[in-house]
Amino acid sequence: MGNPVSVLDELLREIPALRPQMYFKTSLTALSHAMEDQVLAGRDRPLMIASFQQERFYRQEAHRYVRLSELSPDIYVFSAAGTQFDAQANRYETIAFDPDDALVNEWHLVVLGAHYSACLVCREHQPAPGPGARLPGTPVLDQTRRFEGVWTLDSQVSQRAASILLDRVVAYRPSLAEQVERARQQYIPEPVSSPIAIGESDPFAQRLVTYVQASQYKLLKAYKAIAIQSEREQLINSITAAIRQSLNPSEIFAIATRELAQVLSASRCLIYRYSEDAAAAPIQREYRQPGIVALMDSDWSLLDHPLFEWVRRHRQTLMSNRPVSDLDPADIHAHLSQWEVSDYLLVPLIYQERLLGAIELHQCKDIDATSDRKAWSDTDVDLVESIATQLSVALIQAEAYGRLAVLNQQLADLERTRSNLIAITGHELRTPLSTIRVCLESLNTEPDMPLELQQVMLSSALSDADRMQNLVQDFLTLSRLESGRIEWNLESLSLEECVALALSSVRSTESRPLPTIKTDLADSLPFIRADGEWIVEVLSKVIDNACKFTDADGEVVLQAQPHTKALIKVSISDTGRGIEPDRLEAVFDRFYQEEGALRRSVGGTGLGLAICRQIIEAHQGQIWATSAGKNQGTQIHFTLPVARPARPARSRRPRRKKVSV
Ligand code: ATP
Ligand code: MG
Repeated sequence: MGNPVSVLDELLREIPALRPQMYFKTSLTALSHAMEDQVLAGRDRPLMIASFQQERFYRQEAHRYVRLSELSPDIYVFSAAGTQFDAQANRYETIAFDPDDALVNEWHLVVLGAHYSACLVCREHQPAPGPGARLPGTPVLDQTRRFEGVWTLDSQVSQRAASILLDRVVAYRPSLAEQVERARQQYIPEPVSSPIAIGESDPFAQRLVTYVQASQYKLLKAYKAIAIQSEREQLINSITAAIRQSLNPSEIFAIATRELAQVLSASRCLIYRYSEDAAAAPIQREYRQPGIVALMDSDWSLLDHPLFEWVRRHRQTLMSNRPVSDLDPADIHAHLSQWEVSDYLLVPLIYQERLLGAIELHQCKDIDATSDRKAWSDTDVDLVESIATQLSVALIQAEAYGRLAVLNQQLADLERTRSNLIAITGHELRTPLSTIRVCLESLNTEPDMPLELQQVMLSSALSDADRMQNLVQDFLTLSRLESGRIEWNLESLSLEECVALALSSVRSTESRPLPTIKTDLADSLPFIRADGEWIVEVLSKVIDNACKFTDADGEVVLQAQPHTKALIKVSISDTGRGIEPDRLEAVFDRFYQEEGALRRSVGGTGLGLAICRQIIEAHQGQIWATSAGKNQGTQIHFTLPVARPARPARSRRPRRKKVSV
């Protein structure tokens, strides 16, 4: 069990006139060496008592004590017990003290000789814990350690200190009691009378100590500056590394807000993005110190934010300790006081004169109470501005990457279309082409062919030519629709007439037996406002599908009725093969065919419904499919706008679309 009483406290209690001072560790090392050198250079055989806090400090000095022990038999060295340090008598006495002894925080050296006495009694200074205890960025270096205590050449003070320390020697090593007593009689001849008056110290030595202390102080300041600088460089590096490793702005913002708030000891750091056409500039990321209110999810409208508005107009940094004339302090106060913000710093994120957002840092009142930082220094601003440059580049990179991803998607779509086209060309163009070729070759090489057979040859060549023409026509139509190159001729039209035209078109082109087709149009349907040729096209394609995918003994029903006040709904239902629920949307994709183009039994290219969707959407309508599933029939529905004003006396008749390739 160690002694909990500090030697320094004991000495100060005994000699109240002593005034402790603050010493850097380096100064103490210099003073201790000077005291030891004085002994080594002189002819005294002094009593020396040294106390090292830890064994490793003692080991650095051990060789000196071997040399000192050659001069004097009365040397005592204290150190906290370590691996090798132990209580033993070699050339001089070593005393291992308990790790919980007050000596563990102290540093002592007492020299008592006939011609020279000096004493150094110090205790390590522990800064009070809590915010502001250490300046941000202060390195934990040996050089920054500070001790408070007494250094003097006064022989009476040295004797008192020696006496206290000799008591500690005997407490740990009772076997040395006799030897210590002898030393006491030799070096501390008579009990010192109280109170002791402190004599004038050697002015030369004092000057030297002051000089060492001052240089140490300068060094410490330099260390701090270097440490702050390196911390800032590290911050920039970590953000640059994050930008290199990620194209995801939210990851980069998370690192930037956290690091900036920590390095600048800010209460809160926000990053938000701005775009000219957006109605708000939402907070993308917020980092705040414990106990600070979150703004991220609160009603923090940036468009009514006077500070951001100023930054948006001037594209410059704005901060509380550099007020600007065109901002009303009352406005700012009203805006920030609700969040208890006392100091702010706003740095715009700009790339090539384009404002992308801002970094905003706050100091809040409750933190100010304990923090020694309030406003922003030029170095703080430089740091945030250089981070802002990095973030702007990151944002632009992410934006470019996003655009690249869209372009890639478009390219992939294009590639799919291209390969579909090749496959379909292979089947839908080459097959009829070879039929036509075979027919024509036969007609050419066999002039004696019976007339009936010649007729068959000619009509199959003609029907395959039609098939090719339809494919090319659909393809061109779709590409015109998709590129928006159509001029819509919108008129008031009778839907009944469109239906009649579409039905006659289907009936005239189909050679196969068709299912029964019924129409069920609501009475006095309002006119529609549409381009008649295109609506007939839609109806023909949908009816064609219904007939194509329904057996001849099935039924196709065409219905139309008002859907809303402004829309009419048309539905074409069949009793055919139906569509699986997960395919109901896919049937509107270009080239979609359930069995694939190359395995078709019925003709077609998979462009029909894609064309219909383009036409209906161009009329501000919608088209969709419903089906109860396989072999349960299909319903294709679409809406069209009602013409206004209500039904005129005469309307234009819709025409069939002219087929032109
Ligand atoms: P075309 O370009 O000649 O119209 P297509 O009829 O195959 O060829 P779409 O009209 O776009 O192409 O139809 C796409 C696919 O949707 C069809 O191949 C078919 O698989 C499915 N489909 C369309 N209508 C029906 C329907 N009434 N019943 C069942 N399946 C249908
Ligand atoms: Mg079709």
